Amino acid sequence: MERITETLSILSEADKVSADEPRVLEEELALGKKRLYIESYGCQMNFSDSEIVASVMRNAGFATTATADDADVIFLNTCAIRDNAEQKVRNRLKQLNTLKKRKPELLVGMLGCMAERLKAKLLEEEKMVDIVAGPDAYRDIPKLVEEAESGQKAVNVFLSREETYADISPIRLNSNGVTAFISIMRGCDNMCSFCVVPFTRGRERSRDPYSIVREARDLAEAGYKEVTLLGQNVDSYKWQETEGTEQRAEGMGHGAVSFAQLLEMVAQVSPELRVRFSTSHPKDITDEVLYTMAKYDNICKYIHLPAQSGNDRILKLMNRTYDRAWYIQKIDRIRAILGEDCGISHDMISGFCSETEEEHQDTLSLMEYVRYDYGYMFAYSERPGTLAAKKYADDVPNDVKIRRLNEIIALQRNMSLERNQRHIGKVQRVLIEGPSKRSDDFLSGRNDQNKMVVFPKGDYQKGQYVNVLITDCTAATLLGVTV
Ligand code: SAM
Ligand code: SF4
Repeated sequence: MERITETLSILSEADKVSADEPRVLEEELALGKKRLYIESYGCQMNFSDSEIVASVMRNAGFATTATADDADVIFLNTCAIRDNAEQKVRNRLKQLNTLKKRKPELLVGMLGCMAERLKAKLLEEEKMVDIVAGPDAYRDIPKLVEEAESGQKAVNVFLSREETYADISPIRLNSNGVTAFISIMRGCDNMCSFCVVPFTRGRERSRDPYSIVREARDLAEAGYKEVTLLGQNVDSYKWQETEGTEQRAEGMGHGAVSFAQLLEMVAQVSPELRVRFSTSHPKDITDEVLYTMAKYDNICKYIHLPAQSGNDRILKLMNRTYDRAWYIQKIDRIRAILGEDCGISHDMISGFCSETEEEHQDTLSLMEYVRYDYGYMFAYSERPGTLAAKKYADDVPNDVKIRRLNEIIALQRNMSLERNQRHIGKVQRVLIEGPSKRSDDFLSGRNDQNKMVVFPKGDYQKGQYVNVLITDCTAATLLGVTV
């Protein structure tokens, strides 16, 4: 079993929250309406999807609640990426069973990737699930709720080639009012052999760029100061303008819109609106994207570039379609165009099928070469139905996977500290996100490279940009004083 908590120990508090804890809805005035409670697990994409589900359900007359006990309908928006993510949801379902026994009219629905993976089996296996809806079925949820209310089991796990929910305004949940996420595409066409995502989220499709720009503009007008553009592989974003496409953004030409162009369109919304994006795929990230980042001060100089392994044979088995030399060349381009200070993070998997000790050493040496700022690190977890599960034996013993994972984590911790120490004595522009987790006398926010910076509160407010002189750091946080 992988050790997520150790993985997270080098991340900032906010990262821990987003990666490990389920998130719930906020309380709303119900005024006789039925109440909806959603708990979201897994990646940022899922949290974003829950904001779309909340919007669909609000239009259907539901109010949100932050307490499961008060709900008429409970949704778990689930993740299937690793086995322990699914176990977490199964345990939660067991807890909710007690609630359902007390309140038989309560409806429980499973949404997202686990719903898509297990489909109608869930209704049989987990007798307490009334509704099953995959990631492309969220518009259908009010109808599924009605069916379930009339005593039928309600399932929609149809995967679409077109659905992007472009016209649905997400309801910002648990928002700090400063930073928000915008989905720019859905699904994934890469077939990394370890990964369940192409099976649970379907084919890749890009969202209309003008609806993305409009969403960014609405957020800026509502006082938000940072947007993160989300997709499994943002660099393969591509929108082909067709007849009937609505208004063009000013200055943009006809034809196709690439990710670099989209990034530029969003950066131009306001110089006060920071732009981030995730995730970049090493096979697709282009110099054009890097030059666009360099051109705009408000595009943050931080790239999440998952490697997964530093060894060519393993990368081939993983079907990542690049090798170590290609990955290193991408890192060199980032450093050449954006400079040594550009933040870079990775995803790494330990103990993939047949990985030897020498091949694991190649992962460590790649990390030494890159000197990453952060890492998200996992022990390989075989997922039924994936190419790896069909073709390769999951033959690295669990204790070896964990030992290698711990070596990767230990190295990353040292590097995070070293990379953070580079900032000591320098002034950083920080967007304040709110009080520091540890003390109300301190505020916290992120610098350009996505690092959490903590400093004394003074008279500053969240949503303001401040200049902070960095005086000290840990592996996870920069500490400083405003100047
Ligand atoms: N689309 C992104 C990319 O290609 O890098 C990542 C998406 S995935 C939700 C996030 C990370 O989970 C992956 O980068 C990988 O490191 C990890 N992951 C995916 N499948 C896994 C598995 N079967 N076992 C362990 N880790 C896995
Ligand atoms: Fe999974 Fe690979 Fe697609 Fe990322 S790029 S979601 S790891 S298949």
